Formats: sequence, structure tokens, C-alpha cells
Amino acid sequence: MNHMNHASGAHERLENLHPLAPRILAHLRDRDDELRRDLAEWVAMPTGHGHAPGLERQREAIVSRLERLGGESRTIPGDPRPDWLLPAAGGGDGVVPSTTVVARPASGPRVLLGGHIDTVHDPDGAFRELAPLEGHHATGPGAADMKGGLLVALAALETLDALDLPVSWSFFLNEDEETGSFHSFAALDSLAREHDVGLVFEPALAGGALAVERMGAGQFRLETFGQAAHVGREFARGRSAVTALARCLVAVADLPDADKGRIVNVGPIEGGKATNIVPDHAVAWGNVRFRDAATATWLGERILSLATSPDAMPRVEVEYLANRPAKPETPAVRRLADEAVAIAASIGAALPLAATGGVCDGNILQNAGLPTIDNLGVRGGNLHRADEFVELDSLVERAALTAILLARLQSGRLDLA
Ligand SMILES: [Zn+2]
Repeated sequence: MNHMNHASGAHERLENLHPLAPRILAHLRDRDDELRRDLAEWVAMPTGHGHAPGLERQREAIVSRLERLGGESRTIPGDPRPDWLLPAAGGGDGVVPSTTVVARPASGPRVLLGGHIDTVHDPDGAFRELAPLEGHHATGPGAADMKGGLLVALAALETLDALDLPVSWSFFLNEDEETGSFHSFAALDSLAREHDVGLVFEPALAGGALAVERMGAGQFRLETFGQAAHVGREFARGRSAVTALARCLVAVADLPDADKGRIVNVGPIEGGKATNIVPDHAVAWGNVRFRDAATATWLGERILSLATSPDAMPRVEVEYLANRPAKPETPAVRRLADEAVAIAASIGAALPLAATGGVCDGNILQNAGLPTIDNLGVRGGNLHRADEFVELDSLVERAALTAILLARLQSGRLDLA
């Protein structure tokens, strides 16, 4: 069937976006069943953090298909995680996860696509498979966050390849996003500097929305050291680490101001071992969120200022790390987002724009200077829960959106400068 001859009004607009756009959409619609089968297969691979066999299978399933498109793969070793952080859920048996990159250079803008293959779901838990729900919905671990999104990105590249439209792409896969991307931060930062546009396939926000602005996030630890003493016999000799920590926490509690884009949360906390001993050690971990770099600096300075000199009694030690820089809307991001909105409209999909306090690897890429939109993945919801779901009809929709966006970038129809 020649889709050009059957073009509706919407299809004519699609053709105006790119001559191949109607064929891109038709090609993906023909592959809908196949994509749904792929997703079921991927969701059944358990990729909870640190689960090496499942991660390996998932990585291989994606890398082998990218290699079939002519991509060359390499592995970037991960960095160690700072040891003062709370241990990551799932552990990971001390293995430092690496980042995989598959690249196929061509002429035109260098596009970095990708996402994380780890999920938050327990590989040994009861939630293991993609199961149909009503309508186009299905539930499964990582179905939306973000195996569905990785499939969208892969299907877009496969479609452009099938239609002989060469795009210069690299595809990254990291394995520690759900635990903060501490191992893959440097890899993502350096990849970002070698590319012109970043596309990450985290799930859509509520209502199918595309995030154009994300808050940043950081971690901190407050640790206090006092003098232990028996409460009944020598209370006056004691110096309570718990009281010292409490004073710090009261100071920290004054910092948040949601209207100014500053969020500070404390927990968990620990301190003391028995009620009849003045505690000589206490510790609290916390999380900050901030709207921009200036706020990150402001928060960091105030939290770090709680540290005492090394010989103080009681003594306070502070660690602070802004591991996800803020991702403000920039003119280039806005142009990319507006473009995505126009493409979505022409294929009959709604794509509202939104801001979010949630963070992802798009924060890291854009901080390194790469204009990035980061939730081009599937529509879905209940992320990180045992009823996470995907809207299966968004596989084709988002893959078509991505492929047409890539085609327009490649043809120079989109100027980000
Ligand atoms: Zn995610």
C-alpha cells in the first residue's frame, strides 16, 4: 500500500516534517505485535540492581540488535561508589557496574541515546512478568521504567536503518541509575561531551508529559562523635553524640523552602546502643533537591558548615555530594521539546510539557553541556511499585516520534545552535 496516496490531513502534515515520516509510522505500526513480544521477553529478564545474570541477558539482548545495525560496542568501567553513602538496595556483591556504549558514526549531528537497564524490582520477588491488564495496559517490573523506553529507542533506530536513513548515533546502557548513577557518572559525563543531542528514554510523566525541567539532587551524611559514659555513675563526663546530631538536624530543618526550589529530607538516622549509656556515635543520612546550581551551592555550603574542627568534642563530620545536577530548561532543550510536540501532534498523540522534581541521567548529560530531553520513553505509571504498568500502544507512538525526530535532526531541519 502506498501511504502517500492515502494521506489524510494529518499525514500531509507528517510529510511536511520529513518525506519519510509517513513510512516511518507505517513501518512501526506493522511491527507493533513484535514490539509487544520483545517487551514481554525483556520484562521477564530480572534486572534488579546488582543481579548480574539478568543484567547480562538484558544488555546482550539490546547490544546484539544494535550491532546488527552496524554499531560497535565497548565497555566503560565504573567508578567506585563513595563509601559513606547508604548501601544500595540489592547490594550487587561488590561488583562495580560498568557502562556499555554501542556507536555507529555517520554524518550529521551526533545523537546520544540510551538509558538504564537496572530496575528497582527484586529479582526473586513475585513481580516477574509482563501481564495484560484492561485495554492497552500491561503490568510488569521495569515495563515502563525503563525497558519499554529502551525498546522505543531501539525500534526507532531499526526503523531508520530499514528505511536507509543513516543517523549518527551512540547508545549507552548503564546499570546503576536506580541507585544514583554513582558508578556511571563519569562515563555519562564524558560521553555527553562527544555528542550534540541527548535523548533518554525514561517514562513519560503523568498525562504523557515530556519533562523540560528537572530539579537536581544530592546526598549528605552527618556523623557525630561524643564521649561515652554510664548514665548513673558518670553522666557529667559524657558528651552525647545523639544530642550533637539533634542540634545539626534542627539546623538542617530550617533549610528547605519548596517555593524557592529547595528540598531537604533527613532519614534514616542512628545513634546510641542502650538507654543507660551516653552515646558516643550518631549518624544521619539525607537527600537534597534543588532547582538550580546556585541553590545546590547554597545548600551544600550550609550543610558542610555544620562540620566542627577535628579535635572538637563532640565532633561533627559532614559529607555532601550533588550527584544529579539541576536540569533547567534551556533554549536548545525548549527547541527539541517543541519539535517533539509538533511531531506528536502530527501522529495524533498529545505531548504536554512539564517540570518535575524527579531526577535521572538526563541531569548528568545536560550538566556536561549536552542539550537533552530525557523521558521520550513509554507512557505508564506506578513506577517503582509492584503494580508498575505500561501503556502498550505508546511503544509505536513513541518510537515513531523518536525516529521522526532523529530524521529531522539528521536532515538539518532542526537548528539547536
Ligand atoms: Zn528510570
